[in-house]
Amino acid sequence: MGCWNERITKEFAKLKQKATEAQPYSGKVGSEDLDNVDMAYRVVADHIRTLSFAIADGSCPGNEGREYVLRRILRRAVRYGTEVLKAEQGFFNGLVKVVVEVMGDFFPELKQHEIKIREIIADEEASFGRTLVKGIEKFKKAIYDTGVVEVPSGVFGVSNVQMYGGFVVHIGSFEGKTGRLSVGDKVICKVNYERRKLIAPNHTCTHMLNFALREILGNHVDQKGSIVLPEKLRFDFSHGKPVKPEDLRKIETIVNEQIKSELDVFSKEARLVDAKHVNGLRAVFGEVYPDPVRVVSIGRKVEDLLANPENEEWLSISAELCGGTHISNTREAKAFALLSEEGIAKGIRRVTAVTTDYAFKAMELASSLEQEVNEASETEGSVLEQVISYICQHI
Ligand SMILES: [Zn+2]
Repeated sequence: MGCWNERITKEFAKLKQKATEAQPYSGKVGSEDLDNVDMAYRVVADHIRTLSFAIADGSCPGNEGREYVLRRILRRAVRYGTEVLKAEQGFFNGLVKVVVEVMGDFFPELKQHEIKIREIIADEEASFGRTLVKGIEKFKKAIYDTGVVEVPSGVFGVSNVQMYGGFVVHIGSFEGKTGRLSVGDKVICKVNYERRKLIAPNHTCTHMLNFALREILGNHVDQKGSIVLPEKLRFDFSHGKPVKPEDLRKIETIVNEQIKSELDVFSKEARLVDAKHVNGLRAVFGEVYPDPVRVVSIGRKVEDLLANPENEEWLSISAELCGGTHISNTREAKAFALLSEEGIAKGIRRVTAVTTDYAFKAMELASSLEQEVNEASETEGSVLEQVISYICQHI
Protein backbone atom coordinates (compact mmCIF):
# COMPACT_ATOMS: atom_id res chain seq x y z
CA MET A 1 0.00 0.00 0.00
CA GLY A 2 3.03 2.25 0.45
CA CYS A 3 3.13 3.64 -3.08
CA TRP A 4 -0.64 4.11 -3.22
CA ASN A 5 -0.45 6.23 -0.15
CA GLU A 6 2.31 8.27 -1.72
CA ARG A 7 0.14 8.84 -4.81
CA ILE A 8 -2.87 9.87 -2.74
CA THR A 9 -0.71 12.13 -0.61
CA LYS A 10 0.60 13.89 -3.70
CA GLU A 11 -2.80 14.17 -5.39
CA PHE A 12 -4.31 15.53 -2.21
CA ALA A 13 -1.43 17.98 -1.78
CA LYS A 14 -2.02 19.27 -5.32
CA LEU A 15 -5.71 19.80 -4.66
CA LYS A 16 -5.01 21.48 -1.36
CA GLN A 17 -2.45 23.77 -2.85
CA LYS A 18 -4.73 24.93 -5.63
CA ALA A 19 -7.47 25.73 -3.16
CA THR A 20 -5.49 27.63 -0.55
CA GLU A 21 -1.92 28.25 -1.68
CA ALA A 22 -0.82 25.94 1.13
CA GLN A 23 2.81 24.91 1.20
CA PRO A 24 3.43 22.10 -1.35
CA TYR A 25 4.10 18.55 -0.20
CA SER A 26 7.84 17.90 -0.05
CA GLY A 27 8.10 14.50 1.65
CA LYS A 28 9.96 15.72 4.74
CA VAL A 29 9.84 13.74 7.97
CA GLY A 30 10.67 14.31 11.65
CA SER A 31 12.49 17.47 12.63
CA GLU A 32 13.00 18.45 8.95
CA ASP A 33 9.24 18.81 8.65
CA LEU A 34 9.14 22.10 10.51
CA ASP A 35 5.44 22.95 10.69
CA ASN A 36 4.32 19.31 10.48
CA VAL A 37 2.84 20.19 7.08
CA ASP A 38 4.15 17.10 5.33
CA MET A 39 3.09 14.87 8.17
CA ALA A 40 -0.38 16.41 7.99
CA TYR A 41 -0.57 15.64 4.27
CA ARG A 42 0.42 12.03 4.95
CA VAL A 43 -2.02 11.64 7.84
CA VAL A 44 -4.93 12.99 5.83
CA ALA A 45 -4.09 10.89 2.76
CA ASP A 46 -3.57 7.71 4.76
CA HIS A 47 -6.77 8.17 6.76
CA ILE A 48 -9.02 8.90 3.79
CA ARG A 49 -7.75 5.68 2.22
CA THR A 50 -8.39 3.64 5.39
CA LEU A 51 -11.90 5.06 5.80
CA SER A 52 -12.83 4.60 2.13
CA PHE A 53 -11.86 0.93 2.20
CA ALA A 54 -13.54 0.26 5.53
CA ILE A 55 -16.81 1.84 4.40
CA ALA A 56 -16.67 0.06 1.03
CA ASP A 57 -16.28 -3.06 3.13
CA GLY A 58 -19.55 -2.38 4.97
CA SER A 59 -18.22 -0.71 8.14
CA CYS A 60 -18.77 2.89 9.26
CA PRO A 61 -17.64 5.25 12.04
CA GLY A 62 -19.49 4.70 15.32
CA ASN A 63 -19.23 4.36 19.08
CA GLU A 64 -17.74 0.94 19.68
CA GLY A 65 -14.90 -1.35 18.68
CA ARG A 66 -13.67 -1.07 15.12
CA GLU A 67 -16.28 1.58 14.34
CA TYR A 68 -14.94 3.74 17.13
CA VAL A 69 -11.43 3.35 15.72
CA LEU A 70 -12.77 4.65 12.39
CA ARG A 71 -14.36 7.63 14.15
CA ARG A 72 -11.06 8.46 15.85
CA ILE A 73 -9.22 8.16 12.55
CA LEU A 74 -11.65 10.53 10.86
CA ARG A 75 -11.39 13.10 13.64
CA ARG A 76 -7.63 12.98 13.64
CA ALA A 77 -7.53 13.60 9.87
CA VAL A 78 -10.03 16.46 10.15
CA ARG A 79 -7.95 18.10 12.87
CA TYR A 80 -4.71 17.84 10.94
CA GLY A 81 -6.43 19.09 7.79
CA THR A 82 -8.10 22.12 9.34
CA GLU A 83 -5.39 23.10 11.80
CA VAL A 84 -2.17 22.40 9.97
CA LEU A 85 -3.21 22.57 6.32
CA LYS A 86 -5.86 25.23 6.95
CA ALA A 87 -8.44 23.29 5.00
CA GLU A 88 -12.07 24.38 5.19
CA GLN A 89 -14.47 22.51 7.51
CA GLY A 90 -16.01 19.71 5.46
CA PHE A 91 -12.97 19.22 3.20
CA PHE A 92 -12.43 15.59 4.10
CA ASN A 93 -15.29 13.87 2.25
CA GLY A 94 -14.19 15.68 -0.94
CA LEU A 95 -11.06 13.49 -0.96
CA VAL A 96 -12.99 10.28 -1.56
CA LYS A 97 -12.87 11.28 -5.22
CA VAL A 98 -9.06 11.24 -5.13
CA VAL A 99 -8.97 7.75 -3.61
CA VAL A 100 -11.37 6.45 -6.25
CA GLU A 101 -9.36 8.08 -9.05
CA VAL A 102 -6.08 6.62 -7.86
CA MET A 103 -7.24 3.15 -6.76
CA GLY A 104 -10.69 2.58 -8.24
CA ASP A 105 -9.45 0.61 -11.28
CA PHE A 106 -7.84 -1.98 -9.07
CA PHE A 107 -10.45 -2.03 -6.33
CA PRO A 108 -13.84 -1.80 -8.07
CA GLU A 109 -15.71 -1.84 -4.74
CA LEU A 110 -14.44 1.70 -4.23
CA LYS A 111 -16.05 2.89 -7.47
CA GLN A 112 -19.20 0.94 -6.73
CA HIS A 113 -19.69 2.54 -3.30
CA GLU A 114 -18.21 5.98 -3.98
CA ILE A 115 -21.41 7.90 -3.21
CA LYS A 116 -22.14 5.97 -0.02
CA ILE A 117 -18.54 6.41 1.19
CA ARG A 118 -18.70 10.11 0.60
CA GLU A 119 -22.07 10.51 2.30
CA ILE A 120 -21.06 8.61 5.42
CA ILE A 121 -17.84 10.59 5.76
CA ALA A 122 -19.69 13.89 5.17
CA ASP A 123 -22.23 13.07 7.92
CA GLU A 124 -19.52 12.12 10.36
CA GLU A 125 -17.53 15.25 9.56
CA ALA A 126 -20.57 17.45 10.14
CA SER A 127 -21.36 15.84 13.48
CA PHE A 128 -17.75 16.25 14.59
CA GLY A 129 -18.07 19.96 13.72
CA ARG A 130 -21.14 20.23 15.96
CA THR A 131 -19.28 18.48 18.79
CA LEU A 132 -16.59 21.13 18.58
CA VAL A 133 -19.15 23.94 18.81
CA LYS A 134 -20.58 22.39 22.00
CA GLY A 135 -17.11 22.28 23.49
CA ILE A 136 -16.52 25.90 22.57
CA GLU A 137 -19.54 27.17 24.46
CA LYS A 138 -18.18 25.67 27.65
CA PHE A 139 -14.56 26.48 26.89
CA LYS A 140 -15.04 30.09 27.92
CA LYS A 141 -16.35 29.27 31.39
CA ALA A 142 -14.88 26.31 33.02
CA ILE A 143 -11.28 25.45 32.25
CA TYR A 144 -8.92 24.84 35.16
CA ASP A 145 -11.57 25.63 37.74
CA THR A 146 -12.86 23.19 40.28
CA GLY A 147 -15.89 23.45 42.48
CA VAL A 148 -19.22 21.71 42.88
CA VAL A 149 -22.20 21.09 40.64
CA GLU A 150 -25.43 20.95 42.64
CA VAL A 151 -27.87 18.57 40.99
CA PRO A 152 -31.37 17.51 42.13
CA SER A 153 -30.05 14.26 43.64
CA GLY A 154 -26.99 15.62 45.42
CA VAL A 155 -23.67 17.40 44.97
CA PHE A 156 -21.10 16.48 42.35
CA GLY A 157 -17.60 17.59 43.35
CA VAL A 158 -15.48 18.58 40.33
CA SER A 159 -11.82 17.83 41.02
CA ASN A 160 -10.41 18.30 37.53
CA VAL A 161 -11.40 19.79 34.20
CA GLN A 162 -9.72 18.76 30.96
CA MET A 163 -10.16 19.33 27.25
CA TYR A 164 -10.45 16.20 25.12
CA GLY A 165 -10.97 16.59 21.39
CA GLY A 166 -13.12 19.65 21.81
CA PHE A 167 -15.08 18.34 24.81
CA VAL A 168 -14.75 19.88 28.23
CA VAL A 169 -14.64 16.95 30.62
CA HIS A 170 -15.51 17.54 34.29
CA ILE A 171 -13.91 14.86 36.41
CA GLY A 172 -15.06 14.19 39.96
CA SER A 173 -17.49 12.24 42.11
CA PHE A 174 -20.74 12.55 44.00
CA GLU A 175 -20.30 13.62 47.58
CA GLY A 176 -21.99 11.40 50.16
CA LYS A 177 -24.84 9.23 48.94
CA THR A 178 -24.74 8.01 45.37
CA GLY A 179 -26.27 10.55 43.08
CA ARG A 180 -26.99 10.51 39.42
CA LEU A 181 -27.16 13.04 36.62
CA SER A 182 -29.74 12.89 33.87
CA VAL A 183 -29.99 14.83 30.65
CA GLY A 184 -32.22 17.83 31.27
CA ASP A 185 -31.39 18.17 35.01
CA LYS A 186 -31.17 21.77 36.20
CA VAL A 187 -27.83 22.24 37.94
CA ILE A 188 -26.05 25.04 39.78
CA CYS A 189 -22.29 25.38 39.22
CA LYS A 190 -20.23 26.84 42.06
CA VAL A 191 -16.62 27.65 41.27
CA ASN A 192 -14.01 27.35 44.01
CA TYR A 193 -12.70 30.93 43.87
CA GLU A 194 -10.12 30.42 46.65
CA ARG A 195 -8.40 27.78 44.59
CA ARG A 196 -8.68 29.89 41.44
CA LYS A 197 -6.85 32.70 43.25
CA LEU A 198 -3.93 30.35 43.98
CA ILE A 199 -3.88 28.86 40.51
CA ALA A 200 -3.93 32.09 38.50
CA PRO A 201 -0.31 33.16 39.25
CA ASN A 202 0.94 29.65 38.44
CA HIS A 203 -0.92 29.67 35.18
CA THR A 204 0.42 33.06 34.08
CA CYS A 205 3.94 31.94 35.01
CA THR A 206 3.46 28.85 32.85
CA HIS A 207 3.00 31.20 29.90
CA MET A 208 6.13 33.16 30.80
CA LEU A 209 8.04 29.92 31.29
CA ASN A 210 6.93 28.69 27.86
CA PHE A 211 8.22 31.96 26.40
CA ALA A 212 11.53 31.84 28.32
CA LEU A 213 12.23 28.22 27.33
CA ARG A 214 12.03 29.12 23.67
CA GLU A 215 14.13 32.24 24.17
CA ILE A 216 16.96 30.26 25.76
CA LEU A 217 16.72 26.80 24.17
CA GLY A 218 15.42 27.64 20.69
CA ASN A 219 12.39 27.43 18.45
CA HIS A 220 12.10 23.64 18.60
CA VAL A 221 10.61 23.94 22.09
CA ASP A 222 6.94 23.00 21.97
CA GLN A 223 4.55 22.51 24.82
CA LYS A 224 3.78 18.82 25.33
CA GLY A 225 1.70 19.06 28.45
CA SER A 226 1.08 21.25 31.46
CA ILE A 227 -0.53 20.97 34.85
CA VAL A 228 -1.34 24.02 36.93
CA LEU A 229 -2.10 23.35 40.60
CA PRO A 230 -2.57 25.71 43.54
CA GLU A 231 0.85 24.81 44.98
CA LYS A 232 2.98 24.32 41.87
CA LEU A 233 3.11 24.12 38.11
CA ARG A 234 4.49 21.48 35.80
CA PHE A 235 5.42 21.96 32.16
CA ASP A 236 6.49 19.34 29.59
CA PHE A 237 8.22 20.36 26.38
CA SER A 238 10.17 18.98 23.44
CA HIS A 239 13.94 19.17 23.86
CA GLY A 240 16.49 16.47 23.05
CA LYS A 241 18.83 16.70 26.05
CA PRO A 242 18.98 17.83 29.68
CA VAL A 243 18.84 21.60 30.14
CA LYS A 244 22.16 22.93 31.43
CA PRO A 245 22.09 24.48 34.92
CA GLU A 246 23.22 27.85 33.55
CA ASP A 247 20.34 27.80 31.05
CA LEU A 248 17.88 26.94 33.81
CA ARG A 249 19.15 29.97 35.67
CA LYS A 250 18.64 32.20 32.62
CA ILE A 251 15.12 30.83 32.13
CA GLU A 252 14.26 31.52 35.75
CA THR A 253 15.70 35.02 35.44
CA ILE A 254 13.59 35.89 32.39
CA VAL A 255 10.40 34.96 34.25
CA ASN A 256 11.46 36.88 37.37
CA GLU A 257 12.31 39.95 35.29
CA GLN A 258 8.86 39.87 33.72
CA ILE A 259 7.36 39.67 37.21
CA LYS A 260 9.46 42.63 38.39
CA SER A 261 8.52 44.62 35.27
CA GLU A 262 4.90 44.55 36.49
CA LEU A 263 3.45 43.76 33.08
CA ASP A 264 -0.29 43.82 32.53
CA VAL A 265 -1.84 40.54 31.37
CA PHE A 266 -4.36 40.98 28.56
CA SER A 267 -6.92 38.63 27.10
CA LYS A 268 -9.33 39.01 24.24
CA GLU A 269 -11.24 36.88 21.81
CA ALA A 270 -10.17 36.82 18.19
CA ARG A 271 -10.92 34.89 15.04
CA LEU A 272 -8.75 31.77 15.05
CA VAL A 273 -7.25 32.60 11.66
CA ASP A 274 -6.29 36.14 12.79
CA ALA A 275 -4.81 34.89 16.06
CA LYS A 276 -2.67 32.29 14.32
CA HIS A 277 -1.11 34.99 12.14
CA VAL A 278 0.39 36.78 15.13
CA ASN A 279 4.17 36.47 15.03
CA GLY A 280 5.43 34.12 17.74
CA LEU A 281 1.99 33.20 19.08
CA ARG A 282 1.93 29.84 20.88
CA ALA A 283 -0.59 27.15 20.29
CA VAL A 284 -0.43 23.51 21.34
CA PHE A 285 -0.04 21.35 18.27
CA GLY A 286 -2.90 18.90 17.86
CA GLU A 287 -5.16 20.78 20.26
CA VAL A 288 -8.61 21.64 18.94
CA TYR A 289 -9.21 25.36 19.41
CA PRO A 290 -12.56 27.06 19.29
CA ASP A 291 -13.23 29.87 16.82
CA PRO A 292 -13.31 32.62 17.97
CA VAL A 293 -10.46 31.79 20.30
CA ARG A 294 -9.14 33.57 23.38
CA VAL A 295 -5.66 35.12 23.13
CA VAL A 296 -3.66 35.87 26.29
CA SER A 297 -0.74 38.27 25.92
CA ILE A 298 1.65 39.62 28.52
CA GLY A 299 2.87 43.22 28.38
CA ARG A 300 1.09 44.20 25.15
CA LYS A 301 -2.57 44.49 24.33
CA VAL A 302 -4.07 41.72 22.21
CA GLU A 303 -5.52 44.46 19.97
CA ASP A 304 -1.98 45.71 19.20
CA LEU A 305 -0.91 42.19 18.23
CA LEU A 306 -3.88 41.71 15.95
CA ALA A 307 -3.53 45.15 14.34
CA ASN A 308 -0.02 44.41 13.14
CA PRO A 309 0.42 40.63 13.31
CA GLU A 310 3.73 40.44 11.40
CA ASN A 311 5.56 42.78 13.80
CA GLU A 312 8.92 41.33 14.91
CA GLU A 313 8.38 42.83 18.36
CA TRP A 314 5.82 40.15 19.20
CA LEU A 315 8.63 37.59 19.23
CA SER A 316 9.83 39.15 22.47
CA ILE A 317 6.57 38.82 24.38
CA SER A 318 4.39 35.93 25.50
CA ALA A 319 1.20 35.41 23.49
CA GLU A 320 -0.81 32.20 23.63
CA LEU A 321 -4.18 30.73 22.78
CA CYS A 322 -5.66 29.98 26.17
CA GLY A 323 -9.03 29.76 27.89
CA GLY A 324 -7.71 29.68 31.45
CA THR A 325 -7.70 31.99 34.44
CA HIS A 326 -4.87 34.51 34.83
CA ILE A 327 -3.67 37.24 37.14
CA SER A 328 -4.11 40.78 35.80
CA ASN A 329 -0.54 41.94 36.37
CA THR A 330 2.64 39.85 36.56
CA ARG A 331 3.60 41.43 39.92
CA GLU A 332 0.85 39.33 41.56
CA ALA A 333 3.03 36.26 40.97
CA LYS A 334 5.65 37.84 43.33
CA ALA A 335 8.46 35.40 42.37
CA PHE A 336 9.25 32.32 40.35
CA ALA A 337 11.54 29.40 41.23
CA LEU A 338 12.34 26.26 39.29
CA LEU A 339 12.38 23.12 41.44
CA SER A 340 13.34 20.38 39.02
CA GLU A 341 14.17 19.46 35.44
CA GLU A 342 14.04 15.87 34.17
CA GLY A 343 13.49 13.69 31.13
CA ILE A 344 10.13 11.91 30.98
CA ALA A 345 10.25 10.36 27.49
CA LYS A 346 12.51 10.42 24.46
CA GLY A 347 12.91 14.06 23.48
CA ILE A 348 10.58 15.35 26.19
CA ARG A 349 11.67 17.22 29.33
CA ARG A 350 9.65 18.24 32.35
CA VAL A 351 10.15 21.21 34.66
CA THR A 352 8.40 21.84 37.95
CA ALA A 353 8.24 25.31 39.45
CA VAL A 354 6.59 27.38 42.16
CA THR A 355 5.49 31.00 42.43
CA THR A 356 4.41 33.55 45.08
CA ASP A 357 5.39 32.71 48.68
CA TYR A 358 6.21 29.14 47.69
CA ALA A 359 8.94 30.59 45.46
CA PHE A 360 10.37 32.74 48.26
CA LYS A 361 10.50 29.66 50.50
CA ALA A 362 12.25 27.64 47.80
CA MET A 363 14.81 30.40 47.29
CA GLU A 364 15.49 30.65 51.04
CA LEU A 365 15.98 26.92 51.21
CA ALA A 366 18.33 26.98 48.25
CA SER A 367 20.50 29.73 49.71
CA SER A 368 20.73 28.10 53.14
CA LEU A 369 21.72 24.86 51.42
CA GLU A 370 24.34 26.71 49.42
CA GLN A 371 25.72 28.17 52.62
CA GLU A 372 25.91 24.75 54.25
CA VAL A 373 27.76 23.36 51.25
CA ASN A 374 30.22 26.28 51.37
CA GLU A 375 30.82 25.72 55.07
CA ALA A 376 31.27 22.02 54.48
CA SER A 377 33.95 22.72 51.89
CA GLU A 378 36.05 24.34 54.64
CA THR A 379 36.00 21.23 56.84
CA GLU A 380 37.99 18.03 56.51
CA GLY A 381 38.05 14.39 57.54
CA SER A 382 35.39 13.02 59.86
CA VAL A 383 33.78 16.44 60.38
CA LEU A 384 33.32 16.75 56.59
CA GLU A 385 31.76 13.31 56.47
CA GLN A 386 29.31 14.21 59.23
CA VAL A 387 28.34 17.48 57.58
CA ILE A 388 27.80 15.80 54.22
CA SER A 389 25.62 13.08 55.70
CA TYR A 390 23.60 15.75 57.51
CA ILE A 391 23.08 17.72 54.30
CA CYS A 392 22.14 14.58 52.34
CA GLN A 393 19.58 13.64 54.96
CA HIS A 394 17.61 16.86 54.81
CA ILE A 395 17.73 17.51 51.06
ZN1 LIG B 1 -2.76 29.08 29.40
